[in-house]
Amino acid sequence: MVPSIRARLTLWLTVLIMLCTGALALYLYVAAAAILTGDVDRRVEAQARQVAVTYDFGAPDTTVAGAAHRAEIGTVDQFATASVFLEAFDLGGHVLARSSNLRGLHVPGEERAAALARLAPRLATAQVADGDLRVYSLPAIQAGRPVGLVLAAASLHDVTAATRTLLALLLGGSLMTGLLAAVGSGVLVRRGLRPVDQIAGLAESITARRLDQRLALRDPPREVERLLETFNGMLTRLHETFAAQRRFVADASHELRTPLATIRGRSEVLLLKTDLDDDTRDGLKMMRDEAGRMGRLVANLLLLARGDEEQAIDRRPVELDLLMLEVTRQGRSLAQDTAVTLSHADQAVVLGDPDLLKQLVLNLVENALAYTPPGGRVDLTLTVAGDWARLSVRDTGPGIAPEDLQRIFERFYRPDRARSRRSGGAGLGLAIVRWIAEAHGGEVVVESVVGKGSTFTLILPVISNQTLTKP
Ligand code: ADP
Repeated sequence: MVPSIRARLTLWLTVLIMLCTGALALYLYVAAAAILTGDVDRRVEAQARQVAVTYDFGAPDTTVAGAAHRAEIGTVDQFATASVFLEAFDLGGHVLARSSNLRGLHVPGEERAAALARLAPRLATAQVADGDLRVYSLPAIQAGRPVGLVLAAASLHDVTAATRTLLALLLGGSLMTGLLAAVGSGVLVRRGLRPVDQIAGLAESITARRLDQRLALRDPPREVERLLETFNGMLTRLHETFAAQRRFVADASHELRTPLATIRGRSEVLLLKTDLDDDTRDGLKMMRDEAGRMGRLVANLLLLARGDEEQAIDRRPVELDLLMLEVTRQGRSLAQDTAVTLSHADQAVVLGDPDLLKQLVLNLVENALAYTPPGGRVDLTLTVAGDWARLSVRDTGPGIAPEDLQRIFERFYRPDRARSRRSGGAGLGLAIVRWIAEAHGGEVVVESVVGKGSTFTLILPVISNQTLTKP
């Protein structure tokens, strides 16, 4: 699965912030370690220099040479501090003096001999049991000639402890920053992408029937404004194309109506003649029927074109129970060998166009009759519950396969032409039913069991009702 832009941006931002924080932490760690070590270095250098300059290398107390306590120790202790160890050597590498904090030991580190041979100052790090030491070896030059060597050392223990604490703090801080960055960038990215969500929401609300709508956001960012303009431009073009198509269908249907009526009328008149041979009569009947079928198709197309244009429908009170009685009567006259009944009718008044509503119910009844085999039954009911009227047409026909149930309301969708007993259908009847229902603020639902029959139910908002059952 491709991750969303929101997830990707949040991840990138978090990684970027973590990298920056990591780099900053590393820089702080290295700088702090260098500063602290530099401090130690300066201390050992200063102490060593003082000994090198001040200590009298020329007068070693040979009488106590090699003894644990030498007279010079006191002198070197003046330069030493608690944390700096000092040791002075003559040019032969013999200890002349050492600070007492060394407790008789040597300053660890490089070979004295090497330092003496080099006779150049040098800073180095030596490792001892309890940590690192910074050791500074400085040749003592007095009156222009080398007289001895001074070693000064200081423990890096405090520096190591301080840098370790700093490292722990920096790691903890970086982790917290990472967490905050993830949450913060998630929130920011969500806010930044909100206009895109809003556009998607607005675009979803635009259907083929509402192409005259335009998307608008208050103070959109520049990029989103461009997206809006592009989208609105596309809507305008779509709207124009759809409108042209609708006009074409409406005009074509309108133009076809008159010639079709003429053909039908002329064939009716010709059929009245008595001296027609059988072939001519059959041909004329076929012309009349086909012209009639085309006429109905054209009328349906015109009706749907009207629906597409969203022209306001007439709205006046319609007594649904009376309408049901009328349609039942009409259905009976159409039915040849199917029983048409009205088993229950509450009183209900809806606001709407009586002709359209009648056409709706009639379409359902005609379908029921067309698909129900001889001996079957078509039953109508009208019930009112709360503010809604439920008007059902139930038949004992072949039923509709589940995969077709949602599609039968589409224009020109006819799953199985062979089942129809009526030849005139073109697959527009239910599209018209749905349009009329929706134009009246209602809907049509269908339930069907294959082999048993189908029930189409129209649900409409009522303006008044009285529950009054008619047997
Ligand atoms: P038409 O009846 O002209 O084919 P409709 O839009 O009225 O077009 O119906 C579409 C399709 O729905 C029909 O072709 C038929 O397959 C199915 N249908 C409609 N009503 C019924 C019904 N009462 N019983 C079974 N199938 C039906």
